[in-house]
Amino acid sequence: MDDELKERQRLPRWMKMKLPKGKNYPKIKNLVNVHGLHTICTSGNCPNIGDCWNRGTATFMILGDICTRSCKFCGVKSGKPLPPDKNEPAKVAESVKIMGLKHCVITSVDRDDLPDQGAGIWALTIKEIKKINPETKIEVLIPDFRGDKNLIKQVLDAGPDVISHNLETVERLTPEIRSAAKYRRSLDVLRFIAENNKIAKSGIMLGLGETKAEILQTMDDLRSAGCKVMTIGQYLAPTKNHIPVVEYIRPEQFDQYHDAGIEKGFSFVESAPLVRSSYRAEAHVNA
Ligand code: SF4
Repeated sequence: MDDELKERQRLPRWMKMKLPKGKNYPKIKNLVNVHGLHTICTSGNCPNIGDCWNRGTATFMILGDICTRSCKFCGVKSGKPLPPDKNEPAKVAESVKIMGLKHCVITSVDRDDLPDQGAGIWALTIKEIKKINPETKIEVLIPDFRGDKNLIKQVLDAGPDVISHNLETVERLTPEIRSAAKYRRSLDVLRFIAENNKIAKSGIMLGLGETKAEILQTMDDLRSAGCKVMTIGQYLAPTKNHIPVVEYIRPEQFDQYHDAGIEKGFSFVESAPLVRSSYRAEAHVNA
């Protein structure tokens, strides 16, 4: 029995994936197969694929598939990335069109190797999507650009509808879980997004050993930075070489964090074991 299968069998019942179904899902799946399109929804084996594709939402990763950082929770390969593909913005825009998406989410690996950390390709991708998909809403899940506001501004100026940057975990665990990112710097990135009158969104994973008080403090920190949308989901280790799960948080506990977040003033809090940062993203343009 392989490791992945053993892990799946150990999961609590509320973490079991449902089979994707619904009217739009098979149609989009067929288009993805026929045109050889690449989405994180499929490559990341996301549990929400049926739900999201039925609602016309999907996520794409740009700037290659090799990351210059090596966070302990993340399944993306790390190493020396290839030079950026100049045609990637147009290809992603075309994929959005073929899939007929109402809402697309764009994310990327970290490109600390590039002088602009990938900001130019980011901006171009947003513009290309808008050019041939004027009705499609765009959410971007951006890296921290090492806090460089000029680079973040390039992305904001391209006109995405929602800008997300994940804290991933509470302050105490950040140095252990995220390789180069800093909790306070990520809050500054979110504050800069909000100050530019954009919808700022962030997400954390639970089950890494954080306490309830630390989660509530993280919510307060996000609200102080002007963040309006928060996602909270259960961490799952991509392989046995990644940081292990400390605890599986029960669904009722996720519900309590949802209510606490709404009370603290977030417009949306998606909080459930299988929530991923782009889950129900189409709702968040209304934040
Ligand atoms: S949560 Fe994100 S990655 Fe998962 S299916 Fe939905 S859009 Fe795709």
